[in-house]
Formats: sequence, structure tokens, C-alpha cells
Amino acid sequence: MTDFDVAIVGAGAVGASCAYALAPTHRVLLLETETQPGYHTTGRSAALFEEAYGPRVIRQITCASRPFFEAPPPGFTEHPLLAPRGALFIAAAGKDASVEKGLAEALPGTVVEIDRREALSLCPPLDPTWLARALYDAAAMDMDVHAIHRGYLKGFKAAGGTLACDAELEHLDRSAGMWTLRTKAGTFRAKQIVNAAGAWADRVGALAGARPIGIVPKRRTAFVFEVPVAMATLAGWPMACEIDETFYFKPEAGLMLASPADETPSEPCDAQPEEIDIAECAERVEAATTLKIERIRRKWAGLRCFVADKCPVLGPDDRVEGMHWAAAPGGYGIMTSPAVGRIVAGFVRGTGLPEDIAAMGVRPAELSPARLHA
Ligand SMILES: Cc1cc2nc3c(=O)[nH]c(=O)nc-3n(C[C@H](O)[C@H](O)[C@H](O)COP(=O)(O)OP(=O)(O)OC[C@H]3O[C@@H](n4cnc5c(N)ncnc54)[C@H](O)[C@@H]3O)c2cc1C
Repeated sequence: MTDFDVAIVGAGAVGASCAYALAPTHRVLLLETETQPGYHTTGRSAALFEEAYGPRVIRQITCASRPFFEAPPPGFTEHPLLAPRGALFIAAAGKDASVEKGLAEALPGTVVEIDRREALSLCPPLDPTWLARALYDAAAMDMDVHAIHRGYLKGFKAAGGTLACDAELEHLDRSAGMWTLRTKAGTFRAKQIVNAAGAWADRVGALAGARPIGIVPKRRTAFVFEVPVAMATLAGWPMACEIDETFYFKPEAGLMLASPADETPSEPCDAQPEEIDIAECAERVEAATTLKIERIRRKWAGLRCFVADKCPVLGPDDRVEGMHWAAAPGGYGIMTSPAVGRIVAGFVRGTGLPEDIAAMGVRPAELSPARLHA
């Protein structure tokens, strides 16, 4: 039986970033149920980096992640991880309260209001009779999710980490300060575990004897459709997101990606898209634009996982010794992953929050599972 310092359960973006951050100082085992890491939510995102999105703590952690994406360590990737996109928050008449809320909640230097003419020139398919007001974040970027995830896994392996796929964790025992992990790929021992099991986080927590954090996987649908516009022109358009997030669309490799921004509670599973969600999205996009959704090339769904306050759960369990959470990243798990990996590594090492992240105003208590049991 092989012994490790840390076993991380789940090799999506969250588990992989924790493994990457810990591997230089710890013997790390990364366990994954599937044959390929990234099969679940990580492989199904819209790939947007947006500092003006999500609750305050998410925005702070996203801002703390930007330097890594802009200048990853040598050898992490051969491709840029970010590419300019811009995000336009679009509002029909009668949505003034939502526009004002968007402006009030934005961190300084992110979102500004722009006039309708400028919004229409940035995103030509918008219907001028639909659009009333628009906010713009020029700093929103496309992410290369594959390169990010691959970079974490490559760096983790180069530092001596062990990835075990087809290795669903089935049973946990702890004695004399060591966990024994029984998996489909064999039995391992580790001093500490990190629960990065995505939609399955509460099930893995239960194996360790932890109280549930109340994770709710919520299905989100996406699809790509053809648009009769030259690829070079299309590539310059921003993401357009309805101000109350009832739909969004963005260019994606010569096609247009759209989502109804659905949040349908689901059991942990291999999520699949529903026709009704796609039809509703098509209707909303067509009502706000001159686009016609006739040829859908690909459709999918993934589970965005939340707890009650929609903030992530990062850090030691408040009752079970040697168990850490890296769960509930919501719809922000890729863009926050560099800082999330460092935060979790700080807790595992016992050094606490990295200074730059604490300086942004993030507090351990607002990440801790204990807040959910108060
Ligand atoms: C349509 C859509 C659009 C999105 N858009 C964005 C976006 O623009 N920007 C952004 O940052 N985020 C976005 N997200 C959210 C982002 O994809 C997620 O936050 C992120 O992928 C979560 O990563 P994860 O590692 O927690 O989960 P996952 O990728 O689901 O990984 C968890 C892994 O744990 C494994 N596992 C579970 N149980 C066990 C076990 N017992 N043993 C071993 N392994 C186990 C699973 O097999 C799985 O691979 C989007 C999501 C969707 C669905």
C-alpha cells in the first residue's frame, strides 16, 4: 500500500488546481472516478473569465486569479490562457433596477455603463428596439479551459504527483492520524484528504463522517449554433449577457454559444441537456437580437454546484480531523481555480490564507464549512 501526505478526491479544475499547488511540498495522490479527468463540469463550461460576476468573495478570488492566468509559470502552457472577449450586460426597457444593482455591486474598475449606440456597435446583432441600457466590462476574457486544466495536471505530475483514474473513492477509515482510502483502483493511505468531488462532494464528505454542507448541483445547459457571419467578424463580438442572467451568448470558434442560464436542481449525475431549455433560450436570444437559431451543432449540460450562500466551501472540516473541503465553486470554478488551489494548499499546510488573497478582503470564516452549520 502506498502512503501519501494528501489524497485529493476529484480531478476537475478544482481538484487539479489544489494538486498543482500542493505537489511541490507534499506527496499528493489525485483520485478520479472517470477514465479522463475533466469529464464532468470542468469540460462543460462557457470558458469566461469575468471579475464582475458572482458574490463579492467570488469576485475577490477571481481578481486574485488573474495574475496567474496572465503570466503562468514557465512550462505551464504553450498557449495564452486568456484572450480578449469583453462582457456586455444587456437590459431591455423596465430593467433599470437591475442595471443600477449591477453598477453598485461591481468592484472598482470593472463594469461601466455605455450608451446604446456603443453597445450596438460592439454587438451588432442586438435588436435596437429591444436594447434599453447596457453595462460593459472590457476586461472580461475567454479562457482556454483545456490548457488550464492540462497545465495543472502536467505541473502536478512533474512535481512527483500521482493521478489515479478509474479510481472512485468508495470507503474511508481514519486511525492513528492516517486515512485509508479504498477505491476502485486499489487501497491507498494519506495523512489528509481534500474533497474536490464536485456534485458528489457531500457523498464524499459522508464517507469521512462529515456533516453535509448542503451542496445542490444545478444543471446548466449550453449549445452552439451557426451564424451567417465571417469568423473574423464574429470573433470580435463580446459575450452578451441579459442583465438578470436569463440568457447569454458569446462567439465560440466561428460559432455562437448560447445558454438559458438555467439552474435546475439535480442529483449528481452525467448531466444531459433538455430540449425545453434549449427552445426557451433560442426564443429569448431571437427576441433580443436579429439572430436566427436554425442549425444547432452541439448541445450539452453540466452541474454548477452551490451551497446556500452561493460562496465556495474551502478549508478544514470543523469536526473531522484531516479532511478539507474544496467544494461548491458554483459557476466560477475555472476562473477562480488558481487562487482556490493556493487557498486550499494554505489550509492543508497550516499556513492559512495567502497574504495577497487576505489583502483583498477574503476571510477564512466566509469560506469555512462551519458557516453553513451556524
Ligand atoms: C454551462 C456551464 C457554463 C459554465 N461557465 C463557466 C465560466 O464561464 N467560467 C467559470 O469559471 N466556470 C464556469 N462554469 C462552472 C465550472 O465549470 C465549474 O465551477 C467547475 O468546472 C467545477 O469544477 P470541479 O472540479 O469542482 O467539478 P468537476 O469538474 O465536476 O470535477 C469533480 C470530479 O470529482 C470526481 N469525483 C466525484 N466523486 C468521486 C469519488 N468518489 N472518487 C473519485 N472522484 C470523484 C468526478 O468524477 C469529477 O470529475 C460553467 C459550468 C457550466 C455547466
